[in-house]
Amino acid sequence: MGAKIGVLAVQGDFLEHLRFLQRMGVETREIRLPQQLEGIDGIIIPGGESTTICRLMDIYGIREPLKRRIRSGTAAWGTCAGMIVLATRLTNDRPMPMGLMNIVVTRNAFGRQVDSFETDIEVAGLGTDAFRAVFIRAPIVQSVGDGVEVLAKLDDGTPVAVKQGNMLGTSFHPELTDDTRIHELFLGMAEASSKKR
Ligand code: GLN
Repeated sequence: MGAKIGVLAVQGDFLEHLRFLQRMGVETREIRLPQQLEGIDGIIIPGGESTTICRLMDIYGIREPLKRRIRSGTAAWGTCAGMIVLATRLTNDRPMPMGLMNIVVTRNAFGRQVDSFETDIEVAGLGTDAFRAVFIRAPIVQSVGDGVEVLAKLDDGTPVAVKQGNMLGTSFHPELTDDTRIHELFLGMAEASSKKR
């Protein structure tokens, strides 16, 4: 049996993640309420607007239960706004992130001229073929702390894919491409976390 993946479905591009996983034949679940976390091996926090995602997580009462689950080993992947939500610290006043991943993040960091762009990057562990990375009002990882592995960087050295134990963060949106490699990487993390439990 493969891993069962939940996608936080309060705001943002959760449908794109769900469809992507379903095309891969993965069992998925939309997550809004704490009880829906039961039995999942991994959770994806999608791109969108991190302030809204955090506000809705608090309204649905899912912030603390989700935090406990990720701390206890359930795999978690934040894409773009989702990575902001996972971070320990932001250089912005809002939102209050979950404080799980040892990274400092700045929102909307590429400036207005380059609001959205695509570029080919090399991602550690995914082979030599470049990954087409789609950035949309993307955050920048300013610094990484202990235990965080940088999987991909832009040419100027900015980290855009980071991993810390059972957690993965990407500044870009693999769910908007047809390259399944980062989803596969995450599925491997979810399977490993399910075996440990
Ligand atoms: N700009 C958004 C934020 O700060 C993130 C954008 C995205 O997820 N594509 O939350």
